[in-house]
Parts: sequence; C-alpha cells; structure tokens
Amino acid sequence: MNFGGLIKALAWLAAVALPAWLLLGPAPALFAVATVSLWLLAYHERQIDKLARWAEQPLGTPVPEADGAWGRAFMALHRRSRQAATQRAELHEMVERFRLAAEALPEGVVILDQGRTIEWINPRAELLLGLDSKRDIGMAVTHLVREPEFVAFLEQQNKNDNEPSEPLLVRPLRSPGRVLHIRGAPFSAGRTLLLVEDLTQLDRLETVRRDFVANVSHEMRTPLTVVLGFLETAKDSVTDTPPEEIVQYLDMALDHARRMQRLIEDLLTLSTLETDAPPQEESVDVVTLLAAVREETLALSGGRHEIGLENAGPRTLTGSSRELHSAFSNLASNAIRYTPSGGRIVLRWHAHPGGGAIFEVADNGIGIDSRHISRLTERFYRVDRGRSRDSGGTGLGLAIVKHVLERHQATLAIESKPGAGSTFAAIFPARRLN
Ligand code: ADP
Repeated sequence: MNFGGLIKALAWLAAVALPAWLLLGPAPALFAVATVSLWLLAYHERQIDKLARWAEQPLGTPVPEADGAWGRAFMALHRRSRQAATQRAELHEMVERFRLAAEALPEGVVILDQGRTIEWINPRAELLLGLDSKRDIGMAVTHLVREPEFVAFLEQQNKNDNEPSEPLLVRPLRSPGRVLHIRGAPFSAGRTLLLVEDLTQLDRLETVRRDFVANVSHEMRTPLTVVLGFLETAKDSVTDTPPEEIVQYLDMALDHARRMQRLIEDLLTLSTLETDAPPQEESVDVVTLLAAVREETLALSGGRHEIGLENAGPRTLTGSSRELHSAFSNLASNAIRYTPSGGRIVLRWHAHPGGGAIFEVADNGIGIDSRHISRLTERFYRVDRGRSRDSGGTGLGLAIVKHVLERHQATLAIESKPGAGSTFAAIFPARRLN
C-alpha cells in the first residue's frame, strides 16, 4: 500500500471509529475498527490471490484488473509482459530468419557438437552427404559418413582448435558420383561448422578438358609423324629416287597435312561456337541453303551415290546461315562417308507434327549399333576409328552439329540400324520459323 492509500485507510478508520466512540462508547468503536481492518485485509488478500493466479497462467494471459495502487501495479505488470512478448517475438523472428538463410545457402551446412554429433543440418547438406535430418540429427557424423579421409579430416579439425584446417576433397559412398569439397570452421564451445560444396560438375569439366587435350595431341601427332617421316625419306633419297616416287611421298605427306588442317579448322569452329555470343538472327532462305548443301554433297560423293532432295517445309529459318550450313553439310557429308557406293541419300526439310520443322538426312549406309548412339556427339567419339580417318573424318563433325543445334534451341534425333542405314534429324522449334 502506498502512502496515499495508507492515509485513505486511516481516514476511513477515523471516520467510522471516532463517531462510534463518541456516540456509542469504546466497544462499538473497537468493533468498527476491527471490521474495517478485516475488510481491508480481505481486499488485499483478494488482489494477491488474483496476482498469484495470473502468474500461474500461460505467458500472454491478460493481467487482472483492479483499482488504486493494485490497478497501477497490474498495469505496470501488463506493460512489462507486453514488452517481453514483443522482444520474444522479435528474437524468434531473428532466429527464424537465420535458420531460413542457412537453409537457403547454396552450400551444405552441418553443425557438429564437441563429440561430432550432428546438431543441425540444412537441406543442401542432406542432399550432398546423403543424410536425413529427421533421422540423423543426434547421430555421430562419423557413423554416417564413414570415408577414412573424412574421419581424418574431422580429427584434424579438433587438433587445430581455432584454426580452420585444409579443405577436404571427397567422393562420398552415400552419394555415388559426387565430388565434394568440405571446409570446417570451429566455433562456439567446441562445435564445428562444416561447409559442403558440390564440385561434381567442375570435376567432370576438368576430366573433359584433360581428355580433350590428350585427344587433340594424339590426333595431331599421328599425321604429323607421317608428314615428317615422308619429308625426311624424300629429302634423304632425293638424289637416287625417281621423281615419281618423290611425288608419291609428297602426295601422302600432303594428305596428312590436309587432315591436320581439317582437324584444326573443326577445332576452331568448335571453339568459336563455344565462346561466341548467341548466333545471328538472320532470316535464312532454306531453299538456297538446301541447294548449296546438295551441291557440296554431290561433289563429295563424286557420282557414287544417288542424292535426293525433298523440300516441303517452311521457306525461312531464323538463325545463323553460316552455322546452319555447317551443321547441315556435316550431316550430309557423314551420310556420304558412311554409305557405300551405290547407296541412296535423301535430304529432307518438312514441318514437324508438333510445330517447328525438321531437317533430316537419311541414308541406307552402314548404320550404327544402338549402344554407340548416345555417345556420337562427344568429341572424337567414333564407332570405327579407321573408317572415320580413311574417309577424312576428324571425329568432331557431330560435336559441331550438336553445338549449332543447341545454339538454335534445336535437338538432334538419331535413328539407325546396323547394315540398314541411319537418319539424323535436326528438329527446330516453331519460334525459329516465320
Ligand atoms: P567423323 O569425323 O568420325 O565422321 P562425326 O562426329 O561426324 O565424326 O561422327 C562420329 C561418328 O558417328 C563417326 O565416326 C561414325 O562412326 C558415326 N556416324 C556419323 N554419321 C554416320 C552415318 N550417317 N552413318 C553411320 N555412322 C555415322
């Protein structure tokens, strides 16, 4: 009770007791004092009881109402409890924001406690490490990711204490085919934060790059060795070798030099396709393009094949005429090179049933076994290396076709049967036609 309240209570007592004393004597006055005191005691007891009951209720329960000093006390409590609720909500929101941010990280995040038990894991880490947060939180990470190099890496983390150690490159058994880069960072109370990055794609690219360099070197070395060999032989024996024989050597050297030239040209074409901006958006006249490809095909065949042209498709195609020409003539020259003399080749241009249009080269040549088909567009992939070389192939033709088509949002469909022939179809989307 504050001072004002006390004075008020005394005033009440005086107002009741004094007239009672004067009019009725001391006993009734005492009775009046006792009654007022009891009433006051009961009133405060009730407020304390309200307060106790409120305190037992869940957080957020409205504070009881009262008059006077109790009312003010309850109001103050009400304000405090509202402040605390706001702070709690803000804190909760902040923690939630951090949790969502950690979940959205493109890297996998794992939090380990001092004993290497998983405390928290984000969805990306679940995917990369083959874990499941519902099942694996609370488990020792080394029971789940058992690669010895990972276990050694964690031991190193503990030894290094506050220093982040060397990152680890690992191929986890639980996610076959993946290459992961794992970094560890110690933080609060012996915990470790693991950051997991997926390097599978980069690793694949690195393998492709290495294979490519090895392939190019190999492809170049063979003709170069032959050219050098012929030139040396011709030089050493120039005085005592009949000129016709020397010409023969030089012709063979020329052949191989031309092969190198073709290879370099194809490599340059590929590299331009890979590094160039999107293709030019010209309106390509398909009739002219098909006529040019047919002319080249006839020249390459030298009369050994029957070559047909069926044009029932749209008049124009939007794209780079240079690139489209290169793709179409690569398909046509393959048909010639892999179809024995007397065979038939048809170049077709027609509308696609689902919209768009198709350029198709069909031959009745040697055909391809189905197990090779998915790999034909890989650089330097050949079904028969010898046959490809003898016919002047570089092993890059279909890789160029694939690139050109991709740049025009077109796809390549291959159908083939050994001994019966092949059909290579470039399918263009409707938006490339006008
Ligand atoms: P290459 O210069 O060896 O012809 P490509 O990339 O053009 O290289 O073709 C890859 C391989 O696909 C060829 O080596 C050949 O084995 C096969 N191929 C391509 N076109 C045909 C076809 N029309 N008929 C049969 N085989 C083909």
